[in-house]
Amino acid sequence: MDRTGLWTNLAALGLLAICAGGRAVALRDEAAAVSRAGASVEVPVLMYHRISEPTGDVPRMVRRMTVRPEQFKAHMQALRDEGFTAITFDDLAEHFHDAEDLPPKPVIVSFDDGYKEHAQVAAMTLKDLGMVGSFFVNPKTVGWGDFMTWDDVRTLAQMGMEIGSHALTHRSLIALSDHELRDELSQSKRIIEEKISEEVDVLAFPYGDTDERVQKAAREAGYVLAAGVDKGVMQSPRRAYNLKRIEVGLDMSVDQLRAIVEPRE
Ligand SMILES: [Zn+2]
Repeated sequence: MDRTGLWTNLAALGLLAICAGGRAVALRDEAAAVSRAGASVEVPVLMYHRISEPTGDVPRMVRRMTVRPEQFKAHMQALRDEGFTAITFDDLAEHFHDAEDLPPKPVIVSFDDGYKEHAQVAAMTLKDLGMVGSFFVNPKTVGWGDFMTWDDVRTLAQMGMEIGSHALTHRSLIALSDHELRDELSQSKRIIEEKISEEVDVLAFPYGDTDERVQKAAREAGYVLAAGVDKGVMQSPRRAYNLKRIEVGLDMSVDQLRAIVEPRE
């Protein structure tokens, strides 16, 4: 492995390490959903990172951020079999703002960090099942070692997949100056838009790190929604800039996934 390959593999591992620091909040701790504009709505947002076959002793952190390709396919097949319809963040934004109807049992399948297997495995699986996914990429890592190329990202967009920004460099946004924060949000949006010739409306915070200042900056940069890492399946327009997600890792069986996403009566 040359130095560049080593660096990018270490960088990928580093992202995994830091991404694993999500917050533990009890699932399903909120009132039942009422499906109308302006109200909370039950939309599980799944969060995947790596989709690969882990070998040897798998550290806990990697277990949380990795699923096997066959496991991923089984998850998606189960969603289809249970009657879920994959939607995009844009669909959810339209529901929040314009009272656009959502299909019964909506789910969002999201992918952070822009790994190669998102194009090679995830998008192909989704396409085979007639599903859509939302892929968050960092312009500064696109084209490196384990990450997708711009051709990959463009291909996903052309397949009808949603492409979002994971900010420019995957730095924690809460630690940045106002100026740096604006650059991370607006430059990443602009670069991705130029590369895919489509508007980018949604942001995922690197490491899930967010606060009021970051969320205000995201709105000012032109994003309509932002995804965080607080756990839960109820999405509220009041939290449009910190949507909840469900982290999916190696230990998530099909039955566990089903139990988390199945709507309550
Ligand atoms: Zn990330």
